[in-house]
Amino acid sequence: MGLKLASRVRGLSDAAFREAFGEEEQCRAALFRLRWPEGFVCPACGHRGYCVPARRRLYQCNRCKTQTSLTAGTIFHATKLPLTIWFAAIHLIVTAKNGISSVELGRRLGVKQPTAWTMKQKIMAVMARREADTPLDGRVEMDDAYLGGVRSGGKRGRGAAGKTPFVAAVSTGPEGQPRKLKLAPVKGFTKREIARGARRWLAPGAEAVTDGLRCWNALDGIAGSHRAIRTGSGRQAARIAPFKWVNTSLGNIKSAITGTYRKLGPDHAERYLASFAWRYNRRFQLQTMIPRFVHSAARTQPIPYRNLIAG
Ligand SMILES: [Zn+2]
Repeated sequence: MGLKLASRVRGLSDAAFREAFGEEEQCRAALFRLRWPEGFVCPACGHRGYCVPARRRLYQCNRCKTQTSLTAGTIFHATKLPLTIWFAAIHLIVTAKNGISSVELGRRLGVKQPTAWTMKQKIMAVMARREADTPLDGRVEMDDAYLGGVRSGGKRGRGAAGKTPFVAAVSTGPEGQPRKLKLAPVKGFTKREIARGARRWLAPGAEAVTDGLRCWNALDGIAGSHRAIRTGSGRQAARIAPFKWVNTSLGNIKSAITGTYRKLGPDHAERYLASFAWRYNRRFQLQTMIPRFVHSAARTQPIPYRNLIAG
């Protein structure tokens, strides 16, 4: 039901997007509003009074005279690109249900592919940061999965070569419908890895539901409760009710990711997976995804290029 509704609700149309964010001044005004919702605050001294020196796009504090650019201290820091290009990139990335390649992004934005790649990595890093801060609560179904491969019973828990293992966790509502999704790469499906991650993935008191894979025993004592349901494996597991949703979500996400991307290192995998979860978790808020994103981007420190290419 969640998935069906999401496909019916349309995000901001291209025309509506251009009307709202097509001009540089509109984007600057939106960033200003989202960065300083209560009005300008000097980052150096906290004073609220400011002026804008003639012909300079800087805000100068009336008290300490510090000059601040609108983009300083945000992911847009020191960008040579107009904000309209950034906002268009955000629009394309948040509305692409199956992700968008940097080649396609570059083509749509009219920028070179390496530029599009860097923008996309920065945008996905904001999403990853945001997702990392929000643990799942309530009833949470957890499952093992691999990027770059089909789920297969025989290889579970062994970390098949060339594949990136990740945990897929979905919090569910009273009818078993999916609420929030978390996708987290792990080094392997070992108790140690699960114990290390679970404290970040789960809110205190979360009720974890897993299958019989041994690594999930690590949740005992970390989750509020843990119920292991032995399901068999592979296609058979997908038909068993408690795992119906987690497998449906996973199936869609895995086919979307493997359809767009080839090989992912662990850091990149984290960013890509988190960007899918970010979108999924805002599937009922499609009209406000851009302001929501920019609000986070204005609070995310600039990300150096060397950190983007790592992994
Ligand atoms: Zn000041």
